Amino acid sequence: MQFQEHKISKKNEASIRPMHPTSVKGVDDMIRLGDLNEAGLLRNLLVRHKEGIIYTYTGSILVAVNPYQQLPIYTNEQVEQYTDRRLGELPPHVFALADSCFFNMRRNHKDQCCVISGESGAGKTESTKLMLQFLASISGQHSWIEQQILEANPILEAFGNAKTIRNDNSSRFGKYIDIYFNKGGAIEGARIEQYLLEKSRVCRQAPEERNYHIFYCMLLGMTPEQKKILSLGNASEYNYLTMGKCTSCEGRDDLKEYAHFRSAMKILTFTENDSWEISKLLASILHLGNVDFEATIQNNLESCDILTSTHFNMAAKLLEVKTKALDMSLTQRSFMTNREKVSKPLSSAQALDGRDAFVKAIYGRMFVWVVDKINSAIYKPPPEDTVRHSIGLLDIFGFENFKKNSFEQLCINFANEQLQQFFVRHVFKLEQEEYARENIVWKHIEFNDNQRTLDVLANKSLNILALIDEESHFPKGTDTTMMNKMNQVHGKTQIYIPPKNNHDTQFGILHFAGVVCYDSQGFLEKNRDALSSDIIQLVETSTNKLLKQIFQADLNSNVVKTTSNARIITPTNSLRQTADTKKRVPTLSGQFRQSLDSLMKTLTACQPYFIRCIKPNDFKKPMLFDRELCIRQLRYSGMMETIRIRKAGYPIRYTFEEFLERYRVLLRTSVCDPKKDYHDTMLEVERDRSIHEKALLIQKVLRGYKYRKHFLKQRGAAI
Ligand code: ATP
Ligand code: MG
Repeated sequence: MQFQEHKISKKNEASIRPMHPTSVKGVDDMIRLGDLNEAGLLRNLLVRHKEGIIYTYTGSILVAVNPYQQLPIYTNEQVEQYTDRRLGELPPHVFALADSCFFNMRRNHKDQCCVISGESGAGKTESTKLMLQFLASISGQHSWIEQQILEANPILEAFGNAKTIRNDNSSRFGKYIDIYFNKGGAIEGARIEQYLLEKSRVCRQAPEERNYHIFYCMLLGMTPEQKKILSLGNASEYNYLTMGKCTSCEGRDDLKEYAHFRSAMKILTFTENDSWEISKLLASILHLGNVDFEATIQNNLESCDILTSTHFNMAAKLLEVKTKALDMSLTQRSFMTNREKVSKPLSSAQALDGRDAFVKAIYGRMFVWVVDKINSAIYKPPPEDTVRHSIGLLDIFGFENFKKNSFEQLCINFANEQLQQFFVRHVFKLEQEEYARENIVWKHIEFNDNQRTLDVLANKSLNILALIDEESHFPKGTDTTMMNKMNQVHGKTQIYIPPKNNHDTQFGILHFAGVVCYDSQGFLEKNRDALSSDIIQLVETSTNKLLKQIFQADLNSNVVKTTSNARIITPTNSLRQTADTKKRVPTLSGQFRQSLDSLMKTLTACQPYFIRCIKPNDFKKPMLFDRELCIRQLRYSGMMETIRIRKAGYPIRYTFEEFLERYRVLLRTSVCDPKKDYHDTMLEVERDRSIHEKALLIQKVLRGYKYRKHFLKQRGAAI
């Protein structure tokens, strides 16, 4: 940090010290920073960023600053260079981390995982792809399965990524890819888990944002004959594609991407027919989006009619349902009274909402189906009696805080709280607990523990997510009754910030990354994620195989929710059930929590690595480093405390035997066997003077540790 002289007051003068040499030139590993403060940390990243060095370590944690330009550092030569090297031996690199994962998986026979975090546009997805590229390369088989795993990405991105103001290729879903290796270290298969696709984007986009890439790609890439059959035109003709007033994306070639997508589909064993059926459903979505409703009055009730158009007819044709049936299911809602089915007309606004709900359901279910199909191509259960290990890569949506935040943001931020807790537990809690157990002299390092936020959100009885769920199951529950309960239970905690007055619909949560205000309006509806029984029944009448297949679970289910007044009816026997039925339909947050719980279990069973991606500016520009933006990211990711603990801590641990085995050459005791591996160990010691010094120190205190379980060693030696 450079100070301007006239700004320095007398009072501050005393505290100003010359910059530490490490701050001037920058260091590979922040633990070696002389100026261990926020400014020093920021400067280190800045100095490196200026030189085009985007990777920096904090111990074994990799900090990656998005370069926003193609760097020549991901070639096959680089892959070779980083293969089989120790972390820290070469300049920091995402390949080094991938190699370390691979090495440790094989040496320790333990599953590894890499949690990649950061804001939207920080570079999580790119880092994930680079990890995958490296792992596929060192697996070295150039096998079909490797290619299939790599080619799953363009498909996932076509359906799940979109241009947003933050990122031209923003992932609107979370994913965890588990890559399985056989005993010899060759890739044998993989499995992808997806989380919470942003379905609302299919119907609505903010200014300068787009719908999912696939729509624009398809309209550019399909042959005129295909488009004619589906009655498709240009992107500018569709309501669902033009809400952001932006149909193209600078720097993206949708036509080329479509060709890549098509070839990837073939590699992942989607047949021509599968692809065609997918295109039909996508086209039906576009046509549905252009259906217009005209407001009318029926028996003194607001109602609406569908304006007949080619779009409406085409939608019915592609969904393979009768136009009359589609019309009815979009303009009326049926429910049960006294064992009798009655219909109520919908206002045009309700009809539009119902149509959007149908479209979101089609797209969301199709996405899940596509991921399942990819998994069926790349996942093979292990042959009996064989042990195999895996490396998991987690690329999940970062913390979100917009002007207006809704239920989706609460779910996303909850996931981030869980991951932060995983990080905190791994880096701070478990570490310091171990020191206490081993009676190591240790000054406790304070850290921002987000456990209390997690407790209020999801652990305590009557936690916020449970209250939202409870209210969603309650037929008369509304967003207001839900808020009242939240105020009642959590009003006095410091984590929950109640609304300012009775009319305010906003509440706040103190997250690890700051306070986020959520607008409770629409929470229950989004959480119920209900589709009207009329729509389910419509799908039941369809002859479109793919449509029926993606709705299979809904069709099989005996209990179907209706959106209006949350009544539950069973389409098969039409018996009325009350809302307190035992057979509860899982809510959106319920399903999300379940998949997150299982993710956390998986991660906990692995040896974890972390990549912290940093977005250097809001303009997607190379060589531009916004200090404020960066310091905020470093601060809330707990980087300062991380460096402190990594610097003072003992991250390298050996059992007593392992330690003696490795460093016996330095001991002047009888345990020393200078013949075995002497040469290797000495070489290592010579390469890094600090190892030598540390080892001598260790030698002094060795006897004191003899009865402890582990021998803990301070950092300094790359092991
Ligand atoms: P989101 O949460 O929105 O999905 P993200 O963290 O996954 O964001 P990416 O899509 O990985 O962000 O990165 C955004 C863009 O930044 C990329 O499209 C690419 O242009 C650029 N980028 C990121 N990492 C690199 C890199 N290592 N080299 C070159 N460009 C990069
Ligand atoms: Mg992404």
